[in-house]
Amino acid sequence: MKNKANSVEGGLGVQHSDLRHDWSPAEVLALFGAPFNDLLFRAQELHRRHFEANRVQLSTLLSIKTGACPEDCAYCPQSARYHTGVKAEPLMDLGTVTAAARAAKEQGATRFCMGAAWRAPKDRDIEKVADMVREVRALGLETCLTLGMLKPEQAQRLSDAGLDYYNHNLDTSASYYKEIITTREYGDRLDTLENVRAAGIKVCCGGIVGMGESREDRAELLRTLANLPQHPESVPINNLVQVEGTPLKGLPQLDPLEFVRTIAVARVLMPGAYVRLSAGRSEMSDELQALCFLAGANSIFYGEKLLTTGNPQHARDKALFERLGLRAEAGVEAQSACDSEARAQA
Ligand code: SF4
Repeated sequence: MKNKANSVEGGLGVQHSDLRHDWSPAEVLALFGAPFNDLLFRAQELHRRHFEANRVQLSTLLSIKTGACPEDCAYCPQSARYHTGVKAEPLMDLGTVTAAARAAKEQGATRFCMGAAWRAPKDRDIEKVADMVREVRALGLETCLTLGMLKPEQAQRLSDAGLDYYNHNLDTSASYYKEIITTREYGDRLDTLENVRAAGIKVCCGGIVGMGESREDRAELLRTLANLPQHPESVPINNLVQVEGTPLKGLPQLDPLEFVRTIAVARVLMPGAYVRLSAGRSEMSDELQALCFLAGANSIFYGEKLLTTGNPQHARDKALFERLGLRAEAGVEAQSACDSEARAQA
């Protein structure tokens, strides 16, 4: 089923007045601070204006190259700097990836996301991954990649191979970023997003909450995304999965209702984007997930593992969808998924 909006920035049915790129910090904080019911009502209203109310898009995520990453993302079990027990694995071969994509399609996924734990891919990696994109597309699945930072010509090579979406999360606010990652700059992330857009690839970009950031940081992350020249087609919101051995292990958990508020604010700021309930879903009760759907989440990762952390089993998801009267989005033309930060989470 197609997004009513058809495209985030101006397809069928989009109320252009909903699509703003000039949010002020005070406006976004006011949304976060609104009475919970008022915020959810507004988010749900916007959600129904842009999407079919009870449709959820399913994406499956495969780690095509795991671990041994030189970056120091404090949430990530795949960083070579932390002892997390993640077993490093080289880039998968084409046949293995294609078989996993076929299985994902049989399970109902419409989009297949492939994540590699690189700071940035080498040109020779790009050629191999471009072959994967071609093969997965030939199965009738949409494709998404998350490979780290991309140069303009690399983005173009992937676009030429038919890549639909590229995931590259901002993680958190610009000011909190240095508390989480020191091996790259916030501006590097924005540059890659620009390169992806310029190559004509759709953007999947969100962040992670529960990393010890303040509400102001959460607001600033969402404001940065909403004030990009074009909203991302997909906005994954990850709830930190604390992994033993990473520096963020032991932090206090984020209030679950604050997580729901974050989803709702994302929906209000980017009403035509798919808001994805990403990492951390395994730890959520069915009731909390239901609140997230009410707040405007309309996409999930669907599969046994989210890169390296667990993800709810198919059976549990199927039962939850039945209890809530939700249906999986069946078509293409939606948007994509992949989280380098879900990979972080993953
Ligand atoms: S989030 Fe990505 S870049 Fe950061 S350490 Fe993990 S795999 Fe590497």
